[in-house]
Amino acid sequence: MHEVSIALGMLDELFRIAQENHAIKITRVKLKIGKMSGIVTDSLKFAFDAVKLEHPLLSQAEIVIEEVPLVYKCNDCHVSFNAADIYFPACPECGSGNLQLVSGEEQHIESVEVEI
Ligand SMILES: [Zn+2]
Repeated sequence: MHEVSIALGMLDELFRIAQENHAIKITRVKLKIGKMSGIVTDSLKFAFDAVKLEHPLLSQAEIVIEEVPLVYKCNDCHVSFNAADIYFPACPECGSGNLQLVSGEEQHIESVEVEI
């Protein structure tokens, strides 16, 4: 499962953050995942909840995933819109396909709460 390797990759960053803050444990982790990132948020949550148990520093952390909607901006009429159709999006105002991705590709740790 793709999401397990993503969760494992994020562990290194979480441990680095914990170490920098001299944390004794991580209590909450908030992730931002874009709809376009190719990550299934339910699977990522599941993967995180599984891998965190192997690490005392993280085992009690609450994992919160915020899904970032796919937003495009039209280069022709400059309207921004939420795209439900990620494969063939078109501007709802002028029908243009000349679009710029504004958000939806995120896959990062938004915030970490620790106990010191
Ligand atoms: Zn347009």
